[in-house]
Amino acid sequence: MTTTKETTTFGLGNIVFFGTPAYGHVNPTLPMITELVKYGYSVTYYDTEEFRQAIEACGATFRAYDFGTIPWTPQVGSRILELTELLLRFTDVQMEELLRQTKELHPVLILHDTIAFWGRAVAQTLGIRAVSVNTIITAYRYTGKAFFLYATHFTGSSLLELKAISGILKYKKRLKKRYGIKRTDLLGVLMNEEKWNIFTYPCPVHPEGKRKNRFFLGPAAVLREDTFEAEEDYSYDNLIYVSLGTIFNAGPEFYRAVLSQFGGTKYTVVISCGKNYEWLKREEIPSNVIVKPYVNQKKVMERAKLFLTAGGMNSICEAAAYGVPCLLYPQQGEQALNARMFQKLGLGTVVRNERKLFREAEHLLREYAPVPDVSAEFSVVRLGEFTDRLRSYQKTGE
Ligand code: UDP
Repeated sequence: MTTTKETTTFGLGNIVFFGTPAYGHVNPTLPMITELVKYGYSVTYYDTEEFRQAIEACGATFRAYDFGTIPWTPQVGSRILELTELLLRFTDVQMEELLRQTKELHPVLILHDTIAFWGRAVAQTLGIRAVSVNTIITAYRYTGKAFFLYATHFTGSSLLELKAISGILKYKKRLKKRYGIKRTDLLGVLMNEEKWNIFTYPCPVHPEGKRKNRFFLGPAAVLREDTFEAEEDYSYDNLIYVSLGTIFNAGPEFYRAVLSQFGGTKYTVVISCGKNYEWLKREEIPSNVIVKPYVNQKKVMERAKLFLTAGGMNSICEAAAYGVPCLLYPQQGEQALNARMFQKLGLGTVVRNERKLFREAEHLLREYAPVPDVSAEFSVVRLGEFTDRLRSYQKTGE
């Protein structure tokens, strides 16, 4: 583990934040951290080096996880059993060191990403009050609507991951025996509920909506300071933005479909294509299409007329906040669930036929008329209320 600077207790005390290394999980937490630091807390945020700069820019102290030799690829997020095994292994390999470091920090509160199982494990073992931060649609109960919706998207692929089960059983047993951690069933490990749970998107997006112990911040990622330098201001009249996000960003057929259908039209198309950039830039790119590995998405969204997206939670919330309709093309189960909720809210439509993307885009542009009450949910991020409620929870547990 590396430490950039020592965290000393001052102001309202230390908060330890256990994050998950992925843009979709880190981005919406950044404005929360900035606000907590302004409010008077000292925040130590654990994540991987990739996110150091963004985290430090919020005034938090960064600490790097040490996952040992266990590789981390966010793509595992679509394979539920493999992900469960990985979360248990990460917990097993770091637990002693995280316990030691956390004890030294004397935190008044622990915040952990909902899938950072080790965060709940550390909090529980040390008896420190904790909050779960949910950047995805979370299913806390097997009987709830959210779990049912997840199950319809995930069960088929889970059958291919059965070999993960022996690892799950082994690490569960070990962690239970060593630390007495409660709730190590599938949902217990994957989606770590606490007495208070924060959601970094608006309430109507969640299929189970408002409950007593939940706080919906609104589209939090919109308020992050985007430090990525944009090469241009994207001031085109008919701008269509295409991005399948930072993890599941598809393969050649999708991008070729976009180039052939949108090339030579009245639209200027900006494509953020991640790891596809190397091969895509060698293709014949029409003059109205701009291809980038990564863009300053907030800047593009300010100008875009339509967003062709995989349905990552932050991206679609950012689009709704800027009033941009989403043409949703999900790449995995969680995105399919997000897409379904967005379509239901009237904030976009799910692609029906990949060969008719252009026609579906034009149809959506003509028809888009979100209900004002729904749009209003995407116009506020309740950071002030969040810090006040968090302070009260820290002091009273309520
Ligand atoms: N993002 C960005 N530029 C890009 C691609 C993505 O700034 O070129 C940001 C985007 O604004 C969002 C995050 O990365 O905040 C991606 O998270 P999301 O939940 O949308 O999807 P994921 O990438 O995790 O699938």
